[in-house]
Amino acid sequence: MTDILQRKLIIAIDGPAGAGKSTIAARLARKLGYVNLESGAMYRALALKAIDQDASFDDEVALVKLADASRIQLEPTINGNRTLLDGKDVSARIRERDVTEGASRISVHPKVREWMVSHQRAMGAGGGVVMEGRDIGTKVFPDADLKVFLDADPVIREQRRMTQQKISGPVAANVAADLRERDHRDRTRAASPLVAAEDAVVIDSTSMSEDEVLAKVEELARQRHGSGVKD
Ligand code: C5P
Repeated sequence: MTDILQRKLIIAIDGPAGAGKSTIAARLARKLGYVNLESGAMYRALALKAIDQDASFDDEVALVKLADASRIQLEPTINGNRTLLDGKDVSARIRERDVTEGASRISVHPKVREWMVSHQRAMGAGGGVVMEGRDIGTKVFPDADLKVFLDADPVIREQRRMTQQKISGPVAANVAADLRERDHRDRTRAASPLVAAEDAVVIDSTSMSEDEVLAKVEELARQRHGSGVKD
């Protein structure tokens, strides 16, 4: 383990919502003694700020101004990431439905993305990070040591999300519809659409357990470490 610690790889995990990125990224980071950075939490924090300030999700210029005037911090803790917006812990609030929709909508704007990418690069530049999102391997760290594109059948992703949030019935139907809409928006937006980087390892987790996915990604990380690309 120490060896990987010393090499301080940058590991990018991208993929659609519900594919299991967050869980795998968090567990992998813990195993390697790395920092886990959830880039989506930053889009969520900005969406929350827009809600609080009555800014439109469609107003790109206003959103960038808001971002410039905000302090968005990801604070890794033993129990996962804490997200701070202007010093306030908003980790729970940013998981609510209005913020989730807002994050998806603000993420289509190229200038919002530029702002996010430059901050994410600064956060991960030192290595020793597992960063997860939609464009980490394609835009944020195109030279990442390891790029994983984690995918799963849409129906399975919806089911996992419902299990994770412990919901069923009509609420579950809403969650599934929201997930599909966010997915569609991520894949079809003009700026950095969700695609696997050419050199990403695509893992389809549809019929894999979480432990199996984790073992696979860890094995890949160890291989990359051994290849000495960044020694
Ligand atoms: O990953 P999470 O679901 O928390 O991300 C919230 C939203 O932020 C996503 O629906 C996606 O549209 C956007 N996002 C993005 N690029 C990233 C991370 C998240 O566009 N790197």
